[in-house]
Amino acid sequence: MALKSVAQEAKDIELATQMIELGARLQVLQAETSLSYDRLARLYREVRGCSPPKGMLPFSVDWFTTWLPNIHSTMFYSVYRYMDTLTPARKVQALVESYKIYLEQACAGRVEGAGEEPVLSFTRAWMLLRFFESGMLQLSTCEQCSGQFIAHAHDPDTGFICAICKPPPRAGKTRASKKARTKIAAKSAAVTKAIRSLKAKKSTTREDSSVDRVTKPMKRQAKDKKDV
Ligand SMILES: [Zn+2]
Repeated sequence: MALKSVAQEAKDIELATQMIELGARLQVLQAETSLSYDRLARLYREVRGCSPPKGMLPFSVDWFTTWLPNIHSTMFYSVYRYMDTLTPARKVQALVESYKIYLEQACAGRVEGAGEEPVLSFTRAWMLLRFFESGMLQLSTCEQCSGQFIAHAHDPDTGFICAICKPPPRAGKTRASKKARTKIAAKSAAVTKAIRSLKAKKSTTREDSSVDRVTKPMKRQAKDKKDV
């Protein structure tokens, strides 16, 4: 067995750690680094505090063309292409950097405490790049907004309308979004109630100001006595 460079191993460990933090599965780490399965499994346990999940990778190509995953993966892929072609970050490094940006964007404006997983997982993002490499997916141009969106390879470009311009009728009506909406409604109701009671208080204090003028000095005197 050829001796491995220590510097290369250090780089691999650094890269694997970043990928584990972003949620990569063991198969992805094995494909992208030259570290052994045992070392990667150990590193995974050290970083995540639990054993790596077993089982096959999610390998459905169709998933990327369903409406919400399509929007998320298209956003990620656009960032990736920019990173891979126009910045020093290449291939796997571009994947890591663009996935970090995707996470920032995907979590922006989310209801605090909603805490659900991002639509596009790191492992799926990695699979997406493999599907593009093997020519199973392509970018099609939307006829309405002229944005480029992920579609099946060899799908005719004419008449293509993206998932944003033409969302399905049930779009956005998931159980999680319903929960979030009720949460927001409850919060705003509480705020209006608080404002109303504050207003009511203000008007009563204005009426009671004459009473206050008498009682306040009395209260202060009582407090001064206590302080002594
Ligand atoms: Zn469109």
